[in-house]
Amino acid sequence: MPIKAARITEMSWNRADHRERLASEEIFDVLIIGGGIVGCGAALDAASRGLSVGLIDQEDFGSGTSSRSTKLLHGGIRYLPHFEFGLVAEGLIEQKTLAKTADFLFRDLEFLMPMYEGRTIADLPNWASHPAIAPAAMKTGLMLYDILGLRGLGAHRALSDTEISEALPGLIEDDLTGGFGYRDAQTDDVRLTITVMKTAVTRYGAVGVNHTKAVESEPTDEGWLTTVRDDLDGKTFQVRSHAVIAATGPSAPPLADHMPVRLSSGVHLVVHHVSGFPGDKAVLLPETEDGRVMFVVPWQGHLLVGTTDIPYTDDPAAPRPTKDEVDYLLRHFRMYFDLPNAKVLSTFSGLRALMDEGGSTADASRGHEVREIAEGFVQVAGGKLTTYRRIAAEAVDHLDNSFDHLPSSKTRHEMLVGAGSPEDVSQVEEALNQAGLDAPADIMWSRYGQQSLRLVDQLKHAFILGDGQTVSTSIAWAARHEGAATIGDFTLRRSHLSWFTEDHGRSDADAISSILASELGWSATETASQKRRFATDLEREGL
Ligand code: FAD
Repeated sequence: MPIKAARITEMSWNRADHRERLASEEIFDVLIIGGGIVGCGAALDAASRGLSVGLIDQEDFGSGTSSRSTKLLHGGIRYLPHFEFGLVAEGLIEQKTLAKTADFLFRDLEFLMPMYEGRTIADLPNWASHPAIAPAAMKTGLMLYDILGLRGLGAHRALSDTEISEALPGLIEDDLTGGFGYRDAQTDDVRLTITVMKTAVTRYGAVGVNHTKAVESEPTDEGWLTTVRDDLDGKTFQVRSHAVIAATGPSAPPLADHMPVRLSSGVHLVVHHVSGFPGDKAVLLPETEDGRVMFVVPWQGHLLVGTTDIPYTDDPAAPRPTKDEVDYLLRHFRMYFDLPNAKVLSTFSGLRALMDEGGSTADASRGHEVREIAEGFVQVAGGKLTTYRRIAAEAVDHLDNSFDHLPSSKTRHEMLVGAGSPEDVSQVEEALNQAGLDAPADIMWSRYGQQSLRLVDQLKHAFILGDGQTVSTSIAWAARHEGAATIGDFTLRRSHLSWFTEDHGRSDADAISSILASELGWSATETASQKRRFATDLEREGL
């Protein structure tokens, strides 16, 4: 199949326009099923190579595992003892790429690891976990991590017990012997996913439609015919494409013969910011009662505590934290920290899709697999958020047989929309001050980068939502430029309102729905139905 030239469109990404194009007679070069980080990454990769791209998600971009991770851009220090050097190095190389191409979504972070007498560090092999050997083994591992990350050997440091306890107020000091610090990075997983798709849409003319499920794909003379159902109007229609990439994460693609995956659930707690707890350090808790490590990570003024790793066999589209998982995380948080004012604001569960190799889910490889499961139909499974760009490029490379002279991937140097200009938080801060809005400019920058300057251009009549962080102009922005179509699309993903407030955005729902109604042309009946949908969305999340 010859490749058509990429269409450059203007800035907007309105769902109704995209839905119309998806349902038209157009034959897309590639239909991508699944708008997690891998699907959106594949959309950008394919579109920037000149392919015409349609992408659908049964719920919303980033609504699956890609909004439910620990949000680390890392090599994965815990994979070193498993000798997964390739996986670690790959992650660290991508970390460097994203520091440039997604600069505003990238935060360099120091991780502190306290060590205790009589307690081991989980993930160290047995021979190295002896108290006399563990510190030297850790030091060697961290040196190797620094080497693989090309950071220079000075990136990690050894800390005394006093230094560790000064850096981590509230840390329980009994039997504390000291510890280590090493450098890694953090992102906003769902904002990264949406930004990648926004780049594919606004720079290369990709079509992206959420709330649309692929029900069945069948081969035709010209490629593939996929039957899809729009969850917002209940209508079913068909999408034609020369090829398909299924990036459905934990769910099976709509083709009977596919790669099986094993699922494991990982729960996180969002904990209300604890006074005195440092905002710029993450903590690796060295040992849980089931022999794992756990993270406590600063997260936009709050803390993220996670995670669990438990085999999961229920509905992959609706994981919910169990009481046992939440209790487990709280118990371990309290085992290491005495912070009586810490309050859990919300909890969420994400599903790892693991290659089915047997053994425990905690020990299973976090590697990925890409396979052409039928001619012109590629399935991607597994992998990490950090390495999404490479996984996506590999998936598109697998379409080589479907297109003549498929160019090679260009995304290594592709600046995401909003990236690439010097950080200009002070200009955002000034505009917010002038408008009398006491919202944190750095958080706005960390979500929109350079596009923040366009958001603060529209501050007339703006107000701050219940999380104290989100400015109301981002609601209309989400509908016009980020494909948002429901109240939950805004509160659960384009902002973090539902996760960072005690009422999960309920008290802001009227204001949000009236702005969305005017942007998206909702009638009074439609607005009422959207509010009911929002209540169901929160219930489904257990919020
Ligand atoms: P998903 O994000 O799940 O996307 C799949 C999408 O497909 C979903 O949006 C779903 O709605 C859609 N879909 C499914 N079926 C259909 C259909 N029939 N039609 C239309 N759409 C469909 N990685 C890191 O690098 N760093 C971390 O810190 C990290 N922490 C993690 C913590 C936990 C607890 C877990 C579970 C994973 C973590 N990961 C981390 C891994 C990382 O989050 C995942 O590898 C990544 O998000 C997977 O993205 P994906 O696009 O493959 O899947």
